[in-house]
Amino acid sequence: MSATKVLCSIITIGDELLIGQTIDTNSAWMAQELNKVGIWVHRRVAVGDDADAIWNCLTEEGSKSNIVLITGGLGPTADDITKPLLCRFFEGKMVVHEPTLQHVKDIFTFLKRPILERNLQQATVPDNCIVLHNPKGTAPGMWFEKNQVIYVSMPGVPMEMKSIMQTSVLEKLLQKFSPETIVHKTILTAGMGESFIAERLISFENNLPAHIKLAYLPNYSFVRLRLTAMADDKLFLENEITGYHEQLKELVKDIMVIDQDHTIEKVIADLLVSRNQTVSTAESCTGGYIAHCITSMAGSSSYYNGSVIAYAYEAKEDLLGVPHHDLLQYGAVSEVIVTHMVKGVLEKLKTDFAIATTGIMGPGGETADKPVGTVWIAVANKTTVTAKKFHFRYNREKNIELTTLNAFEMLRQLILNTVVPDQHAED
Ligand code: AMP
Ligand code: MG
Repeated sequence: MSATKVLCSIITIGDELLIGQTIDTNSAWMAQELNKVGIWVHRRVAVGDDADAIWNCLTEEGSKSNIVLITGGLGPTADDITKPLLCRFFEGKMVVHEPTLQHVKDIFTFLKRPILERNLQQATVPDNCIVLHNPKGTAPGMWFEKNQVIYVSMPGVPMEMKSIMQTSVLEKLLQKFSPETIVHKTILTAGMGESFIAERLISFENNLPAHIKLAYLPNYSFVRLRLTAMADDKLFLENEITGYHEQLKELVKDIMVIDQDHTIEKVIADLLVSRNQTVSTAESCTGGYIAHCITSMAGSSSYYNGSVIAYAYEAKEDLLGVPHHDLLQYGAVSEVIVTHMVKGVLEKLKTDFAIATTGIMGPGGETADKPVGTVWIAVANKTTVTAKKFHFRYNREKNIELTTLNAFEMLRQLILNTVVPDQHAED
């Protein structure tokens, strides 16, 4: 079987997706998984719980793709209409699938909950589908084939969809198709806007072969540069794209954070682990968001000691030793206070590095000389403190995110400029 370009459509079903009540995370996750195995998602469509809309969508996507993956509308309630509709679309008739019936009963026995007729109905499926076991729930996945196109319907609950994808769908798709290889190589940069980077890369981009694309993915002061290529010959492609990746690294070496698709949290984690050093945080305006980002990384306990969320004056004074008279004289959003905070937490939590934040995230709370978006960030090691003032101009949520990203970048710079203590000095 020679490799071919395999096209996939993802249809997500549910009124909640259309009104923005639920964010469609399913299609993003599925697209990432399909991408890893070389299946190209060329369309993603969201439709409501509406029979005509779903029917038209199935017809349309089935005419454009080799694979149509569908999530949502499989619940036991009246608003979930996908299953009977699929039965009509594929001209089947509903039958009880005994293994699924047993699975549904087992789940309710395990949960010690009474089982209703509508729960048992989850085991009724069109007779012309292959039933895919749902290890995490009652609604099974359903695999149909019509006119050489594969259609797979899965529940909307993300955990259930993921487990069906991982236990059966991806493997079955790879048995059916032999997709091309998709290779990505990414570089994370900081401190330069995408337009300026693009100016620098004009001749590099002009020299790229047509099958290799360069994408700019900006996220505030960070820009991810992603090279993507798709082809038949995996080894050749990997060598080729590695060559361009090396060229790109050389061109952006002064602004490069890392030559991989890592988050800044991951970069900091790797740096601290490799140096056997620790960090702590003192957060006012970010209210624990920095701590959340750090602790979202598995293994963070080896380099993160903790956080002091010091919002009120009293908390800054009592928990971080910020002098009361300085708060009155300079105000909480000031270089003096952020410096006290960072030194305070470094000492209290006995870490090698620390981050502190204080600012006005809005809306409201501004003063004549401190408009909304004024933020002080400080980072420290045992001998130096670096404090910087920022003026962010977004809403509260984005200002918090931006403060966090800038704090991480300041910390990264400080770590790189700090000599690793000689572990064997006293040997
Ligand atoms: P359903 O299979 O339609 O009963 O979906 C059950 C639940 O899964 C819904 O209440 C949503 O919260 C969630 N859900 C459905 N579709 C998606 C999606 N595309 N992304 C994330 N969550 C979803
Ligand atoms: Mg639904």
